[in-house]
Amino acid sequence: MVTSSDRLRDVLPGIAEREHSAPESYPKASIAALYEAGVIGAPFPAPLGGSGWQLTDAVLAIESIAAASPSTALIVSMPLGLAGIFGLGADIAPTAWRPQWAKQIEQVAADYQQGLVYAACNSEKGAGGSLEATQTVANRGDDGRFRLTGEKILASSGRNAHMFFSTAKVSQDDLPGAGIVEFFFVQVGSPGVGILNDWDGFGMRPTESQTVRYVEAPARDLVGFPNFLALVQPLQYWYCLFAAIPLGCARTILTSLGAPAPRSAALRLRLSDAVMRYEAMRAYLIETAAGFHAGAGPGYAARVLRAKTYVTQEATKLCAELFALGGGRNYRRSNRIARTLADSFAGTALRPPLALALDMLVENFSLGAAEE
Ligand SMILES: Cc1cc2nc3c(=O)[nH]c(=O)nc-3n(C[C@H](O)[C@H](O)[C@H](O)COP(=O)(O)OP(=O)(O)OC[C@H]3O[C@@H](n4cnc5c(N)ncnc54)[C@H](O)[C@@H]3O)c2cc1C
Repeated sequence: MVTSSDRLRDVLPGIAEREHSAPESYPKASIAALYEAGVIGAPFPAPLGGSGWQLTDAVLAIESIAAASPSTALIVSMPLGLAGIFGLGADIAPTAWRPQWAKQIEQVAADYQQGLVYAACNSEKGAGGSLEATQTVANRGDDGRFRLTGEKILASSGRNAHMFFSTAKVSQDDLPGAGIVEFFFVQVGSPGVGILNDWDGFGMRPTESQTVRYVEAPARDLVGFPNFLALVQPLQYWYCLFAAIPLGCARTILTSLGAPAPRSAALRLRLSDAVMRYEAMRAYLIETAAGFHAGAGPGYAARVLRAKTYVTQEATKLCAELFALGGGRNYRRSNRIARTLADSFAGTALRPPLALALDMLVENFSLGAAEE
C-alpha cells in the first residue's frame, strides 16, 4: 500500500527544485503537490481522506520538507497542524457540541481534498506572541454571525490562502463559556478582509507572511466549540511542528558540508559533534511529540515549551556554527546555505517567540511531580 509518507518522498525532489529555481516566490506548486499527495491532510482518519498520522509523523514530515524548502515547511505547518487537531475526532467535544464539531471536521477534510489552502492569521503587533494580549475582537450580529475587527501580522500565505483561522476575543454574552480567545474561520475575499503587501522577511522570503486587517469581517464559523484552546490545548501540536523547521535547516547545512566527507580532520571532528547534537535534538523532539493528546494538561504543555525552546535555539546555533565552517564560497546572499541560515532563525520567532518562552520557563519553573 502506498502511504502518505511514500507520497511525501515522491514530491520532495520537486519541492527542493522549486526552492532552488524560484527562491523568492510563494511555492504554490509545492503546496498544491503536498495537498494532492495527501500529506497536508494526512492526520485525518482514512474515511476523511487521511492516513491517521500522529504528531510524530507530522514532525518528521515537516523536518523533511524543511530540509528541501524551509519556507514550504513553514507554510505547510499551519494547515498540517490544523488537520492534526481536527483529526483528533468528534469525541473531544463536549456532548452538546459534538454533532456540530463532527460536521466541521468533515467540511475541513473535504476542503483539504480540494487543495484549499488554510493559513494561520493570529499574531498581532505589540502582543509579543501572547494570546492574552490579543486585541482583535469578534462580535455576534443580530444574524447570529461573528464579525472580526483587528489587525494581524505575519500571516503566512497571505493572499494565496483560501481560509484563515484567527484568534479573537469574545464576550460571554455572545458566546457563553468562551475562553480568553477563540479561533474563527475567515474566508479570504470576504468583505472586510484586507491583506497588505508588506512582507520583507530576513529569511523565509517566499512565505508571504503579510499583515491582515479585519474590519467587521464575517467569520464562516467558530472553530470547534467554546473554550476550544483551553479544553483541547491544540497549540502544543503546532509548537512541535515549528521546532522541526530549524531542525530541517540544520540537517540541510550539515549534509551540504559533510557529504562528501571533508579531508580536514578538524572539520570531521566538528561535523561529528554536529551530528550528535542534531540527533539528540531530533530524539528530544520526537519523544515530546509522541506524548501529544487532546487536553494533555500543564505538565505536557511545559514539556513542549522546553522542547520547542531548546530545539529551535540549539538548531539555530548549530546552523550558525556550521555556516562559520563553510568558508567564503557560501558567503553569498543567494547561496543555499546562507539562505538556510537566515530561514533557521524563524524557528525562534515562531510561537512562542524565544523571549516569551524564556519568561514562561522562569515564571513556571518547577521540578515537582506535576512536571513528570
Ligand atoms: C517567518 C515568520 C512567519 C510567521 N508566520 C505566522 C503565521 O503564519 N501566522 C501567525 O499568526 N503568526 C506568524 N508568525 C508570527 C510568530 O508566530 C510570532 O507569534 C510572533 O512573531 C510573535 O510576536 P513577535 O516576535 O513579533 O513579538 P514582539 O512583539 O516583537 O515582541 C518581542 C518579545 O517581547 C515580549 N513581549 C512584547 N509584548 C508582549 C506582551 N504584550 N506580552 C508578553 N510579552 C511581550 C515577548 O517576550 C516577545 O517575545 C510568523 C513569524 C515569522 C518570523
